[in-house]
Amino acid sequence: MAQKEDQFKKVISHAKEYGYIFQSSEIYDGLSAVYDYAQNGVELKKNIRDYWWKAMVQMHENIVGIDAAILMHPTTWKASGHVDAFNDPLIDNKDSKKRYRADVLVEEFREKINQKILKDIAKAQKRFGDAFNEDEFRATNPNVLRRQKQIDEITAELTRVQEENDLEGFKNLIVDLGITCPVSGSKNWTDVKQFNLMFGTQLGASADSSTKVYLRPETAQGIFVNFLNVQKTGRMKIPFGIAQTGKAFRNEIVARQFIFRMREFEQMEMQFFVKPGTQKEWYEKWKETRLKWHLSLGMGKDNYRFHDHEKLAHYADAAADIEFNFPFGFKELEGIHSRTDFDLKAHEEHSGKKLQYFDHEENQSYVPYVVETSIGLDRMFLAVFSNSLIEEELENNTTRTVLRLPAVLAPTKAAVLPLVKKDGLPEIARKIVDDLKWDFNVIYDEKDAVGRRYRRQDAAGTPFCITVDHDTLDNNTVTIRHRDTMEQKRVKIEELRDIIKQEVDVRSWLMKM
Ligand code: ATP
Repeated sequence: MAQKEDQFKKVISHAKEYGYIFQSSEIYDGLSAVYDYAQNGVELKKNIRDYWWKAMVQMHENIVGIDAAILMHPTTWKASGHVDAFNDPLIDNKDSKKRYRADVLVEEFREKINQKILKDIAKAQKRFGDAFNEDEFRATNPNVLRRQKQIDEITAELTRVQEENDLEGFKNLIVDLGITCPVSGSKNWTDVKQFNLMFGTQLGASADSSTKVYLRPETAQGIFVNFLNVQKTGRMKIPFGIAQTGKAFRNEIVARQFIFRMREFEQMEMQFFVKPGTQKEWYEKWKETRLKWHLSLGMGKDNYRFHDHEKLAHYADAAADIEFNFPFGFKELEGIHSRTDFDLKAHEEHSGKKLQYFDHEENQSYVPYVVETSIGLDRMFLAVFSNSLIEEELENNTTRTVLRLPAVLAPTKAAVLPLVKKDGLPEIARKIVDDLKWDFNVIYDEKDAVGRRYRRQDAAGTPFCITVDHDTLDNNTVTIRHRDTMEQKRVKIEELRDIIKQEVDVRSWLMKM
């Protein structure tokens, strides 16, 4: 655990040191759970967004994009249920004065029990070797059975108090489980209260004529209210999808995990409109497609898992998360939700306008069902960044820090380095930069010894270093060094473009899907 915490601290400091992420308004000591993307961060973020957009919009004939405004008519949020139900249950510890999400406290307590089960399994596996059967062990070992029963009971009660909005029951659950505050260690809790997560603001100048509006807490509603506009003007036939990336805002109660949980963040969402009755099929299809997209980046199959929801949101008939192995454990990275016709119907009711599709094959109109894929761009950034940061032991007993970003996402694709700052080498290096920059983000670097420059680029995540040396003057060749293998090859200057393209081209990455 301590090792993981250390790794997370390294991720945060590396992100700052190498120009990826800064705290917002740092000179004023920052603003809690708000971050700025720096010169390299903005490129990585853009590349992730593009990688998603290519896969979702460009590669699907029946998916188109929009860019709806952040501010929407306030009735939107009444219809969507956010005004009444977009709440988190919060609880304060009276001694530490710290505030927690009541559901998270219970879930973390439950996870600790689960970890004990996993420990027992690992121990038994070691003892019994090949003869070990996990299912049998789970079904017979008294310790595991007792703990599993406790987990099931906690899950059942948590689901009940949430579904019935039983705030007193919620507090009792926390008290009965003996959950203590991680800061004060005490069990001195306040009652559980509901807290709405939307940021409100005023539209219009004068106090009496102004309207209360909200900063959107999700991008999805901008798609729903435009459903018919897009369908008609794009002559879209069901099944079809509308995709959107953009900012969303949530006044999160507990926001302490760097860019994992922010108050201002970016989502990449796609709503897929289908014929009622076919939603289960499409839900399964999108679960599979989205996982493949993640796997295409080569960040390790074992780092992903599905978590199917037991407790469904008011709009869903099925829901699952793709969880990623973050430095602080497996946590939600993306959600796939079968949202039924809840949103379109609600907007029909509140607007008095029909939001129906005329199906020529069926010769009838209906409100389509919706399957949604929703991923946080910042969370994806954190997944990629934290997974890529590695401290590598080298053969000569030294270590190097390398940021092994998937080359397709790396902010800078190549650094061009003159071996020395004289003899005409800088001029050739500059010429190479001027030529390659039409196709890729490349930089010129002449400061320090070349070995240090390599290390600097390794740590910044640059996949290639191109070095111009004295042989270049004779034969127009340079060395190209690969970040991950550190291997160097001598190649002709004219070949550089193709070599780099092969490794960073979106096509070759997405083909792996
Ligand atoms: P969580 O349970 O972690 O609060 P959620 O289930 O509320 O997330 P959704 O409403 O399904 O999240 O939003 C879809 C995606 O948006 C999430 O999978 C996540 O990647 C991202 N996301 C949601 N809230 C935040 C946030 N506060 N900061 C960064 N990303 C977020």
